Amino acid sequence: MSLPGAPDVAYRGDTLHLEGAALSELAGRFGTPLYVYSCAAMARALGGYQRALAGRDHLLCYAMKANSSLAVLQWFERRGCGFDIVSGGELERALAAGAGAGRIVFSGVGKTRSEMARALLAGVFCFNVESLGELEVLSTIATASGRVARVSLRVNPDVDAKTHPYISTGLRGNKFGIAHSSALAAFRRAARLPGIEVVGIDCHIGSQIAATEPYLEALERLLDLVEAVEAEGIWLSHVDVGGGLGITYAEETPPAAEELVARLLERIDARGHGHRRLLLEPGRSLVGNAGVLVSEVLYVKPGETKNFCIVDAAMNDLMRPAMYDAWMRIVECERGRGEPLVCDVVGPICESGDWLGRGRALAVAPGDYIAVLSAGAYAMSMASNYNTRGRAAEVMVDGDNAWLIRDRETPADLMRGEHLLPPA
Ligand SMILES: *Cc1c(COP(=O)(O)O)cnc(C)c1O
Repeated sequence: MSLPGAPDVAYRGDTLHLEGAALSELAGRFGTPLYVYSCAAMARALGGYQRALAGRDHLLCYAMKANSSLAVLQWFERRGCGFDIVSGGELERALAAGAGAGRIVFSGVGKTRSEMARALLAGVFCFNVESLGELEVLSTIATASGRVARVSLRVNPDVDAKTHPYISTGLRGNKFGIAHSSALAAFRRAARLPGIEVVGIDCHIGSQIAATEPYLEALERLLDLVEAVEAEGIWLSHVDVGGGLGITYAEETPPAAEELVARLLERIDARGHGHRRLLLEPGRSLVGNAGVLVSEVLYVKPGETKNFCIVDAAMNDLMRPAMYDAWMRIVECERGRGEPLVCDVVGPICESGDWLGRGRALAVAPGDYIAVLSAGAYAMSMASNYNTRGRAAEVMVDGDNAWLIRDRETPADLMRGEHLLPPA
């Protein structure tokens, strides 16, 4: 029986498996905390998008900030994906994983001049520009280097994605994109600037979106603008509807990617825009349910008001609970270990915000392993070295095979590049 939101995670007997791999065995072999990713889960997630887009001119750009480990990028690159990047560092990672620059879109509200210059040199497919200021700077950089920057303007459609305020990005009053009401003027300006070629329009309304309606609303507003822009003789070859599709952590029931994309295409065709290339920038929905974080139980500490299960993974490994108050399923890697105890699952870090789950019933003893499910997105990619903790190792499984795709960081890795003061 597989577990909710994690179709490739299941008990075989009493042992939790990800595909054919026993998680406690991997934990013993590679140590903990350990991130483990399932190729089958990524394939299932990607397949939904690809089936819906088959036969259409499209570019699926994996939003790599969700999980930017090189092997994960390489896996998507081999299956024809492009990448949505938000920094110069991500550009270098994507290129290192073998990505063709011609399949990269560069998003983000605060691109620096040197990031723009590097991306122009690499030849990225387009810059998703978020302000007039950025447009002017990009034009200057492009002309100075004798290049042309292909540009899509990111419009803020003022649509409520009905998600957590920290991950809602398409409402008036947040820092992202160009206001819908100023977009037409921005396109006019872009079309007149040297070194700029306007090629598209985009939006990205938020993350962990569990409904289809906000996307359809944003799409309508985008297409209204496309029509207004083209009426002025500015040709847009693509429409990019961003990412943001949610996954199941607990009881959420987001639409399947296949269904969402089918609905979008239906509207695009109905409004006579079927000839345009469609871009999508999914992140979480491609990798979120593919990952688990395995951790060893260090202590079980009964308390007066609550019990604590202290594990060796912490907020530096997995920020989502502390940062977004996120609920992530936590299960035992070996079942049938006696009576469960209701406890808060916490890490060793010196912060009260250092928790992974609250009020969870777990039957575990020190030395046992637990797994946090749906930890493939915004998990390892947000890990830090707080408390001088090395970041976790990562393993990818495919059927019965498992590969180490990242070594655990050592104290020497953490001190690299630091300098002691001169002799006193
Ligand atoms: C983060 C981000 C995405 C991906 O969002 P998900 O919720 O992970 O799908 C797509 N586009 C842009 C511009 C982003 O910043």
